[in-house]
Amino acid sequence: MSAHRIATLLRDQPLGTTVTVNGWIRTRRDAKGFSFLEVNDGSCLANLQVIVEASLPNYEAEIARLATGCAVRVIGELASSPAKGQAVELKASEITVYGWADPESYPLQKKRHSFEFLRTIAHLRPRTNSLGAVARVRSTLAHAVHDFFRERGFFLVHTPIITTSDCEGAGEMFTVTGLDLDQPPKREGRVDFSRDFFGRRTSLTVSGQLEAEIYALALGNVYTFGPTFRAENSNTSRHLAEFWMIEPEMAFCDLADDIDVAEALLKHLVGCALTECREDLGLFARFIDQGLIARLENVLARPFIRLPYSEAIEQLKVSGHDFEYPVAWGLDLQSEHERFLTETIFKQPVVVIDYPKAIKAFYMRQNDDNRTVAAMDILFPGIGEIVGGSQREERYEVLLARLTDAGLPLADYQWYLDLRRFGSARHAGFGLGFERIIQFVTGMANIREVVPFPRTPGSAGF
Ligand code: ATP
Ligand code: MN
Repeated sequence: MSAHRIATLLRDQPLGTTVTVNGWIRTRRDAKGFSFLEVNDGSCLANLQVIVEASLPNYEAEIARLATGCAVRVIGELASSPAKGQAVELKASEITVYGWADPESYPLQKKRHSFEFLRTIAHLRPRTNSLGAVARVRSTLAHAVHDFFRERGFFLVHTPIITTSDCEGAGEMFTVTGLDLDQPPKREGRVDFSRDFFGRRTSLTVSGQLEAEIYALALGNVYTFGPTFRAENSNTSRHLAEFWMIEPEMAFCDLADDIDVAEALLKHLVGCALTECREDLGLFARFIDQGLIARLENVLARPFIRLPYSEAIEQLKVSGHDFEYPVAWGLDLQSEHERFLTETIFKQPVVVIDYPKAIKAFYMRQNDDNRTVAAMDILFPGIGEIVGGSQREERYEVLLARLTDAGLPLADYQWYLDLRRFGSARHAGFGLGFERIIQFVTGMANIREVVPFPRTPGSAGF
């Protein structure tokens, strides 16, 4: 473990010192009497150039055979480099080969591979420049999420992954069961979950919100950041069956406060990517999306637009644009509408508020007009919906009526109603899809490229 990381060496440039680097060969070029190796150790996008004299004892037997993908240890002296595009290089005095990679069969050769192909080798793709860069950005932003909430006095709550509550009242959950699927116990022709592991039917969570509300109404400001599962069969470039969601929940907070927190969080994450991931973003700006940096800076430039749903419908109607799905008050906004608002009409992030209550979840707070709820969706150019949130219904009677109208089993929501019976208070929260913000800051067209192991319909392997 006494090895140096390439990112640190390139930053500090301790010229004249002897250093040890562990990494993987990207390329080898031979000249008369010596070879150049490009070594990458994953700590940053840049490779370290290594100069190897042919006089090294294992030059003929090993170094001259090194190929892309081999794992090596290099010991040598760091020197300033005469070559263009790099400040330092390593003059090797000793090279140990840890692991060979046969160039005939190692799939990652020098040429650029399509992302579709790389998905078929999820066990090797983080060794490419682009997927390695995504992994670093993802890690940096995950830390930035925690920093953001910690600085503001929020507590992290680990909400359960196996749950009995269905956040949206929708049938899009994965069942968790210990039953023998070949011979499940049955009662009246249906699977008898009372004989299952938990004594009832359970699922993978679609959101930690309901449980986060419990803790918000005890600790004030809390957040969860964990895996979330949806069994909907939507094979799009923005949906995963397993994704990570950031869900703050705040007591004594209304919709306007909620939007302010969401806007601050999104700006914090974009700003953090711009300052802390410059090198990796530079790669995306060069090869993935030329307009990336300008698009990120545009998010920071001014306050997000706040737009009532009713006005959004009007704007879409008067645009005269020919949409595939109809635009009418009472209908949900489709992805094409969301993107038209943020990309064509406003050309910046838009927060749509006050949606019709009929198209939103039972827990969203009813507005005084009786037909809309205090909901908000934040729409981002190139992405569409990135955040969905609301002020929660804190009035017992109103919530009871909404649950009843929605036909939800009241017995399952007794605890949720209790929160409104005992010390109820105004509260609000939202969900930010972590992969969607990573998609936005990297410019990746498909969400499958921003999660290490994508789970999508028909695909859950490597
Ligand atoms: P969409 O309309 O895009 O399907 P949603 O309205 O179903 O999303 P919410 O339940 O509001 O999503 O979830 C909150 C956030 O979680 C969304 O704004 C989005 O950023 C993210 N999200 C939702 N579903 C997925 C998914 N299947 N894959 C990745 N991220 C998702
Ligand atoms: Mn939503």
